[in-house]
Amino acid sequence: MTAKAPAANLRPVTRLLHAGAPPLRDGTGPVNVPVVRTSTVRFESTAAYVDYHHRRTAGERVASYGRHGLDTHRALEDAVSGLEGGHRAFLTPSGLSAITLVLLALLSPGDHALVADGVYAPVRRVDSTLLQRLGITVEYFSPTHDDLASRLRPNTRLLYLESPSSLLYEVLDLPALSAIARDRGVTVAADNTWSGGLFYQPLSLGANISIQAATKYISGHSDLMQGVVVVDGPVLADKLSTAYEALGLTIAADDAYLALRGLRTLPVRLAQHQRNATEVAEFLQRQSQVTRVFYPALPSDPGHALWKRDFSGASGLVSFEFRHATPASAAAFVDALTLFGIGASWGGYESLALTAQPERLREHRQWSGDAPVVRLHVGLEAPADLIADLAQAFAAAAPAL
Ligand SMILES: *Cc1c(COP(=O)(O)O)cnc(C)c1O
Repeated sequence: MTAKAPAANLRPVTRLLHAGAPPLRDGTGPVNVPVVRTSTVRFESTAAYVDYHHRRTAGERVASYGRHGLDTHRALEDAVSGLEGGHRAFLTPSGLSAITLVLLALLSPGDHALVADGVYAPVRRVDSTLLQRLGITVEYFSPTHDDLASRLRPNTRLLYLESPSSLLYEVLDLPALSAIARDRGVTVAADNTWSGGLFYQPLSLGANISIQAATKYISGHSDLMQGVVVVDGPVLADKLSTAYEALGLTIAADDAYLALRGLRTLPVRLAQHQRNATEVAEFLQRQSQVTRVFYPALPSDPGHALWKRDFSGASGLVSFEFRHATPASAAAFVDALTLFGIGASWGGYESLALTAQPERLREHRQWSGDAPVVRLHVGLEAPADLIADLAQAFAAAAPAL
C-alpha cells in the first residue's frame, strides 16, 4: 500500500527508496511505515474475522493473527520483492532459516537435490542433520568443473546455487545452469546475499527463487538477524507459504522496520563498499606476501568476464591467499590488524577479517592450494586508513610470514 503507486518505469533505486511508504490519511502522514507490534489482530465482527481468515487461506497477504505480520512486514516484503523482481517475499528469522525453509518446502523423502560446492557452509549441516534423516539426498557438485546435465537424476527436484560462492567468490554462469535445470523441470534457487539484491538479479537470469541473509547488506549495520526468500510466481509462493505457515515462521515488527530502514541506503552503502574494496584489493595485489586476490571486479579474477556480463556491482568481500604462510602466521596477521574486527558475518558498515578454515576451503573443487586464506569485509572507513592498517599488519607479521 503506497500513497501513490510509484510509476513502473522508474529505475530500481528510485523504486527501492519509495517502496512500502505509508499512505496519507486525512492529507497527512509520516515518511516511514509505523512499527506495528502485535500478537492479536482485532476485528469489528465475527463475520469480518471469518472473511479475513478465508482471504488469507486463499493466498491473500492479509493478517488474521500477529504471526502473519502487519503493515511493517507488508512494506518490507513489497520492497524486497520489488528489489529482486519477484512475485512474493517471505521474511524469516535468519538467513539460514530462509535457506532451510526453501529446502523443506521443495524436497520430500526420495528426492535428490544438487548443491553447488561453494555454498554457505552451514547448508551442509542442514543436509547432514535434517535432510538425510528425512530421506532426501543432497549431492554437491562444482558448477564450473562438472557437467550439470549428467548429474541430474529423474528424482532431482532442486538446483541450489550461490554466485559468487562463499569465501572464494567463484562466479557461476547462472543463465546457462538454470536453463539446463529448468529444461528438466528442476527448480533453481540462488543465494543472493553477496549482492544485497541490488546488483544481481537471479530471477531475471533464470532462477526461480532468490534467497538473502538480510542480516548482511540489507541490514547494513550489524544489528539484525533476518532472512528473506523471494519467489518468481504463484506456484512457488503457494509451496513456500504452506511450509512457512507449518514451521510457524515470523519476524518481529521492529526487525522488519530495521531491515526496511537499511534498504533505503543500500545503494549508497554498496557503491562505497565496492570503491573501498577495489582499492584494498588492488593494494593486496601489489603485496609480495600475497599470491592471489579473490574479487570478481578485478580484471585478473577468473570470474571477471561473467561478473561483467551479469552483475552491475561488487560487494565489500575480498579474500586473499598468503604466500608461504602457516595458519599461525596468517592468524598473527589478522591479530595485528587494529581497524578490522575479528569475527564471522559481514555486510555491516565496519571492516572485518577472518582466516578461512582449511576444511571449508577444501569443500570448493576450485580450491587446490594449501596456503592460508584470509577473508576481509571491507567496510565504509576511509580506504587509506584500512590500507595503512593492512600494511602495518603485513609488516608486523612479516617475521612469521
Ligand atoms: C551469512 C550468510 C547466510 C546466513 O545468514 P544468517 O542470517 O547468518 O543465518 C546465508 N548465506 C550467505 C551467503 C551468508 O553469507
